[in-house]
Amino acid sequence: MSKYLLERMEERRSRAIDIAIAAKVLRVCEYHGDVVMTMGLVDESYAYRVGNAKLKAGELGDTFESPREMTDAVKAAINEHYLDYCPRCEKLLED
Ligand SMILES: [Zn+2]
Repeated sequence: MSKYLLERMEERRSRAIDIAIAAKVLRVCEYHGDVVMTMGLVDESYAYRVGNAKLKAGELGDTFESPREMTDAVKAAINEHYLDYCPRCEKLLED
């Protein structure tokens, strides 16, 4: 896979996380800025609606080639962070 394709994938992944955060489906841990988790109840369809609105408004530039590509990326981003707590905070509490 070319470097260009990898960069495009990484860009889509991080945009998808931004969409899910904007939709309040995912959130960033307030103590660990690199830990992303769900808000508990996951409403994926709401994240897709937020993504579609951003797509139509041109806010996503040329990151996604189709609405389908965007929803697939958002779905993957949510699945990748399917925890409703921060594992690092949890670990701190245990120690
Ligand atoms: Zn944390």
